[in-house]
Amino acid sequence: MDNIRNVVIIGSGCAGHTAAIYAARANLKPLVLEGHEPGGQLSLTTLVENFPGFPEGIQGPELIENMRRQAMRFGADYQLGHVNHVDLSQRPFSIHLGKETIQTRTVIVASGASARWLGLPHEQALIGHGVSSCATCDGFFFSGKDIAVIGGGDSAMEEALFLTRFATRVTIIHRSEQFRASKIMLDRARHNEKIQFLTNIVVEDVHDINKKEVTGLKLRNVQNGAVWDFPTSAMFLGIGHIPNAKMFDGQLETDQDGYLKTTDYVFTRVPGIYACGDVQDRRYRQAITAAGTGCMAALEVEKFLEEQGR
Ligand code: NAP
Repeated sequence: MDNIRNVVIIGSGCAGHTAAIYAARANLKPLVLEGHEPGGQLSLTTLVENFPGFPEGIQGPELIENMRRQAMRFGADYQLGHVNHVDLSQRPFSIHLGKETIQTRTVIVASGASARWLGLPHEQALIGHGVSSCATCDGFFFSGKDIAVIGGGDSAMEEALFLTRFATRVTIIHRSEQFRASKIMLDRARHNEKIQFLTNIVVEDVHDINKKEVTGLKLRNVQNGAVWDFPTSAMFLGIGHIPNAKMFDGQLETDQDGYLKTTDYVFTRVPGIYACGDVQDRRYRQAITAAGTGCMAALEVEKFLEEQGR
């Protein structure tokens, strides 16, 4: 007996929970580190209609909680904690969480991706005062108000549609005329009478820092350069995500946007370290693909430990 874990799973989204279910069923007693956004992106979403097995759809938080309970049923351990640094230079690997260090023979990186911000001068100061990246968390506070949603992908459409429950009017502001959103989501937004679109427009800043609440946005038309103030009570970001891979700086390979590079789906360049889900997937980024690669990572861990005689 030693204190060295067989496998530590960093992250508790769809990929992490699925890896935990498989690793637990292989009797590896996985430890899942839940991180600062437990449940990942599914915990911040509403109805999930494209996860197979739920013909009427299922609420994201319910789906993720079910996965967690399923993993716990087979003996997975869960611990809250933010990973500061992982030392992959020697075996067993060391995972540093504040003052605690956990040693492990293998690691499954399922740390996902976090919401991207625009980087406006007053954006950060107004988070929680009308600036948000989570419609399901904050939409309710803007009942009967006008809301702006930034972005042209599925996240922006989903946020905008959800926010029509509360808002008088939702304006989707997108920097070009081409939308990344799937046709079905875009059509739903286009057919919703509470939603209007502003295209070829970028946000230059958000007002009003002195009042400590959002009163409007400074907008610029990218085609003719016109700049004006657009009154609104809230700005919701739906402009994509940044992979949570900083803890591996200099140790694992990333692409130019910080996504972990993998070969054969889940292999990193360090034997015994596998990556799955949104931290390594910039192409599909779906709950079902994250679950799929989580499964693969756990199967590879099992194989690796077996080869090591464990
Ligand atoms: P995304 O598809 O990458 O779209 C991001 C959008 O934000 C793009 O329109 C992009 O504009 C815009 N953007 C990025 N940076 C910006 C900036 N600095 N300023 C202004 N605009 C900026 O991301 P996503 O919408 O989060 O979707 C990610 C994945 O999750 C996709 O595969 C999507 O299908 C999936 N998803 C699915 C659902 C669903 O099915 N219910 C819901 C949400 C997400 P450009 O196009 O000009 O680059």
